Amino acid sequence: MNIGIVGGGMMGLALAYRLSQQGHKVTVFESNQQLGGLTTYHDYGAFIWDRFYHVILPSDAHLIKFIRDIGLGDKLRWHPTLTGCYIDKKLYSISNTLEFLLFPPLTIIGKLRLAITLLYGSRINKWRRLEKIPVEDWLLKLSGKNTYEKLWKPLLLAKLGDNYKRVSAVFIWSYIKRLFSARDSSLHKEQLGYVEGGYKTVFDRLEELIRLAGSDVRTGATVEYIASHTNGGIWVEYNNQKEHFDKVIFTGPVNILQKVTDSSLVEIAHIENTVEYLGVICMVLITRKALVPYYIVNLADQCIPFTGILGMSNLVSLKETAGLHITYLPKYVHSNDPLLRQSDEELQKLFFQGIRLIFPELKTNDIVSTYINRAQKMQPLQVLNYSNLVPRIVSEHNDFFVLNTSQFVNDTLNNNTVVKHVDQFITKLMPAL
Ligand SMILES: Cc1cc2nc3c(=O)[nH]c(=O)nc-3n(C[C@H](O)[C@H](O)[C@H](O)COP(=O)(O)OP(=O)(O)OC[C@H]3O[C@@H](n4cnc5c(N)ncnc54)[C@H](O)[C@@H]3O)c2cc1C
Repeated sequence: MNIGIVGGGMMGLALAYRLSQQGHKVTVFESNQQLGGLTTYHDYGAFIWDRFYHVILPSDAHLIKFIRDIGLGDKLRWHPTLTGCYIDKKLYSISNTLEFLLFPPLTIIGKLRLAITLLYGSRINKWRRLEKIPVEDWLLKLSGKNTYEKLWKPLLLAKLGDNYKRVSAVFIWSYIKRLFSARDSSLHKEQLGYVEGGYKTVFDRLEELIRLAGSDVRTGATVEYIASHTNGGIWVEYNNQKEHFDKVIFTGPVNILQKVTDSSLVEIAHIENTVEYLGVICMVLITRKALVPYYIVNLADQCIPFTGILGMSNLVSLKETAGLHITYLPKYVHSNDPLLRQSDEELQKLFFQGIRLIFPELKTNDIVSTYINRAQKMQPLQVLNYSNLVPRIVSEHNDFFVLNTSQFVNDTLNNNTVVKHVDQFITKLMPAL
C-alpha cells in the first residue's frame, strides 16, 4: 500500500519504520530541513547533541524495545543521577529517601501529606474522574495548604504559568504515575539513559532503514493541503506539488491539522474550542565546569525566569560533548505568550538575570557559548475535560488517520508513549489498512 505520513518527528518516523518493515511503500513529509521535530538535534559548535533535553527512563519499555529493534541496543548508556530542588533561594539534594526526610522547607506533616499524595496518585487507574477536578483543588485536598503553597503551587506556576488554574488533576497525576513506574522498574533502577551520539543516532538510523526498505523521507517538504480524491485515497499538496496516496497519516500538532486538512476529512478541522499548546524557551549553556551536580533541579522560585536546570553532563559522558558541560534552562509558556517572540538577545539577558542569582560564582570565562532554542507548540494544555477536545485516530474518511501527542489524554509527553501509541495503531488498525 502507498502511505503518506505528514511529520518527520519521532511519531512520523517510528510509524514510517514499522510500516515500511511490513512491506508498505511509505513517504514521509517533514517541513523542516532536519528530521526529529521536538526530539531533533542541534549543532553546538564543538559537538552535536539534542536541541532539548531528552532522557530515557528504565521503565520506558516500548522505547527501549524500539531502540533495540532498529539495532541500537548496544548504544544505550545508563548512569545513576542526582535530583535537586531550588527553594527559598537554596539548592537542596533530594536524591534519596533520607535527603527527602531531612528536606527543610517542608514540615514533617507536610512531608507525610506529600508522600500520601504521591502514593495515592500512583495507585489511581481510573483517571477520567480526575479530568473534572482542577489540579489546584486536588493537590490542596491531598497535600494540605503548607505543602501546596511551598512546593506544588510554585511547580505548577513553573510548568504552566497562570494557566494552571484551568488545568485538571490529570496533569499532575500522569507525572506521578511516570515517576513511580520509573522507580518500580528493576532494570537499571535509579539510573537514567541515553543513546550514544544522542537522538541524532536514532534519526540517522531510522532514515537509513526506511530508505533501505524502499520508502522515502522528504525534508523541506511542507504539506499545505490534504483532501480526499474522488476515486478513493487522499491527495497531499506540498511545495506546490500534488501526490496521491492510498492512506495518509497526520502526526503534526492540532492547529496544523485544522489548517491543512479539508473539513470533510476530520470533524475537528474547523471548530473553535480546540486544543491549546504550551511552548518552551530553552537556554542552553556550554561551560567548562559543571553548574550543578544534578541531572535535574526543579525550580520553585518566581524570581528566576527559568523553571528547571538540566545538567545533562551529569548523565551524558563528557566524551560526547568534547569535554564541555551542557546545561539546559527551560521556561514553559502558553504558545501565544509574547515572550516566545522576543529576540535571542532579549531572552539571554533575561535568563542571565536568573543565572547570576543562582550561580553568583559563575565567571564569564567559564562560559564557552550560549544558545536559545524554542518550540511554539510543545505540549497540549490538559484543561478540564481535555479528552473531549482531542481529534480521534480514525477520522471521518476511511483513508485518513490522525496520530499525534494531543491524544495522550492520560499520559505525559514522552517518546515511550509515542512508540506505544504507534505500536497500538499498527496492531489495532493495520489489519484494516
Ligand atoms: C523541552 C522538551 C523536553 C523533553 N524531554 C523528553 C524526555 O526527557 N524524554 C522523552 O521521552 N521525551 C521528551 N520530550 C518529548 C518528545 O520530544 C516528544 O515526545 C516528541 O518529540 C513527540 O514527537 P512527535 O513526532 O509526536 O511530534 P513533533 O516532534 O512535534 O513532530 C511533528 C513534526 O511534524 C512536522 N510538521 C508539522 N506540520 C507539518 C506540515 N504541514 N508538513 C510537514 N511536516 C509538518 C514538524 O516540523 C515536526 O517535525 C521533550 C520535549 C521537549 C520539547
